[in-house]
Amino acid sequence: LPRKRFAAGQEIFAQGDEGDNAYFIEQGSVEISTERAGRKVVIARLGSGDLFGELALINRQARTATATALRDVELVSINAAQLQRALREANPLLRKLLQVNLGRFQWTQQFMLQNADSLNGGQSLEHQARADLALEKEISRAMAQREFELHYQPIITLEGGWTVGFEALLRWRHPTRGLVYPDGFIGVAERTGQIVDIGQWVLKEALDALKSFQLLVGNAGAGPRPPLTALAEVRDSLTSEPRRDALFMSVNISGRQLFELQEIDRLGDTIKASGIDPALIKLEVTESLLVDDPAHARVALQLLREYGVRIALDDFGTGYSSLSYLHEFPLDALKIDQTFVATMGRDPKSYRIVRAIVGLARDMGMETIAEGIERNTQLSALREVGCDSGQGYLMSRPASFREARRLLQM
Ligand code: C2E
Ligand code: CA
Ligand code: CA
Ligand code: CA
Repeated sequence: LPRKRFAAGQEIFAQGDEGDNAYFIEQGSVEISTERAGRKVVIARLGSGDLFGELALINRQARTATATALRDVELVSINAAQLQRALREANPLLRKLLQVNLGRFQWTQQFMLQNADSLNGGQSLEHQARADLALEKEISRAMAQREFELHYQPIITLEGGWTVGFEALLRWRHPTRGLVYPDGFIGVAERTGQIVDIGQWVLKEALDALKSFQLLVGNAGAGPRPPLTALAEVRDSLTSEPRRDALFMSVNISGRQLFELQEIDRLGDTIKASGIDPALIKLEVTESLLVDDPAHARVALQLLREYGVRIALDDFGTGYSSLSYLHEFPLDALKIDQTFVATMGRDPKSYRIVRAIVGLARDMGMETIAEGIERNTQLSALREVGCDSGQGYLMSRPASFREARRLLQM
């Protein structure tokens, strides 16, 4: 396939141009913009691995936006005939993935174009794009300077109070702004695609931590695991046997990390290289991944599952997927969203919803994990309905690596 280079600032194509080819970015970055009422509106900034101009492949038509090189770029050009040929030769799985991706890009671009108007004449989009650009640079710097760190929130069995694993949660130790929580940067990292590299780092870091935690408490067969203090009362009322199985680690995976097959392989490589029993690794994905693109999600999750990891559906109940829809996906656990947990101690309706979720999950062979447990009433309600495990401030806030080690030694 032909390669093309453009210097920073150079126009690759302009809105209204005839075009019959798409570009794949090998290196550098590209800004996609359009003109609305005489002013430029930035639709997207793309980086290596992204595809643009692909509408021309679907139906040969004038370019709907302008593409400009932000930095020096190296592009691979592909036209409709080449794509058809590649598709015919591709194996069925690749073909499926390609179709899914083209569909997604087309949809995103149309959505952005349609909404450029409604959003304040495009002004807020432009403003948003500027703010994003500044944060994007900050994030790149933070990656290089190793300012990201993980905190670990214990997950305990509700019946016995034993710590069985942790969820790794990303934090940014910013030189001037202090500790920045994911809400402050994950959105941009997802839009720019930076979450892909961040996510690879997160997985590796979390697995290193798990190795250290496992060594500390010993693997299967070692002594009992101390329960967290907040649960001492619960535990004392029980005769449940101490847990002696090895600790697991839950890692959040953004949908964007699963767009590309090679990224899934990279995650798999990290898992294999860690030497950890993959059954002790839980990857948490959200409902939006399943709802936005079910066909792709099924393939991506199946590929991950082949590495032996467990898949948990995060924030369950906040999206649109129905329980009956879940059996179409290879899921091992459901995480009950904190909005249900928050009300179930006092609201009979959400109590019944959670009870139904737990029952159905069990019928489907899935484990249930409740998040955001803050009160004893919530904890006992969850135990009553038979939820397997949970996490929340009641037991422990997310803890630094050192604090987590200390918790395990209590
Ligand atoms: P999440 O996966 O739903 O994580 C649970 C969130 O609830 C965490 O917020 C956690 O600190 C908070 N939490 C835990 N216990 C309680 C509680 O008892 N009460 C309340 N009110 N909150 C509690 P956090 O750490 O700010 O993370 C927010 C979101 O950012 C996460 O939601 C997850 O979607 C995302 N995130 C975090 N780390 C990563 C990561 O490494 N990669 C990706 N892609 N996303 C991440
Ligand atoms: Ca999560
Ligand atoms: Ca969650
Ligand atoms: Ca959440």
